Amino acid sequence: MNDVKRGESQHRPITVKERSLIDWLLRHGNPSSEQFLEQLDSLVVVWKCSCGCPTVNFAREGKPVPHEAEHILADYLATVDGEDVGIILFQKEGRLSSLEVYSQAGTDKVFGLPEIETIYSYEELAERQSKRNLRRPTRHLICAI
Ligand SMILES: [Zn+2]
Repeated sequence: MNDVKRGESQHRPITVKERSLIDWLLRHGNPSSEQFLEQLDSLVVVWKCSCGCPTVNFAREGKPVPHEAEHILADYLATVDGEDVGIILFQKEGRLSSLEVYSQAGTDKVFGLPEIETIYSYEELAERQSKRNLRRPTRHLICAI
């Protein structure tokens, strides 16, 4: 993967889908993240990644928010079009700065924003993995018989 993300400049309000996803993330994010909900009404997208993912950067009063050394507000996992993705909402200096959606497998195929119902936490991922791990010895036992 390339460190320099290619993308295109945009200037548009956030979509209904972006809004509902960010709204959910803020309500399920870090303890202080709900204070960012009031920024949703004036949130403008100024940059969109062009690698095929739906990652966007936001602007503050017309100026793009710098996104170096951003702080994570919410960090979740989800599934979209059968693809396992990660979702991270960032803030910088008290303003929402970017919504990053990345493929866990690093796919370069085009995918959109996940539905809220598909979002899961890292705790749930650990649970799923431990269930998978529990199944494995059973299978080995059967094979050994
Ligand atoms: Zn991308």
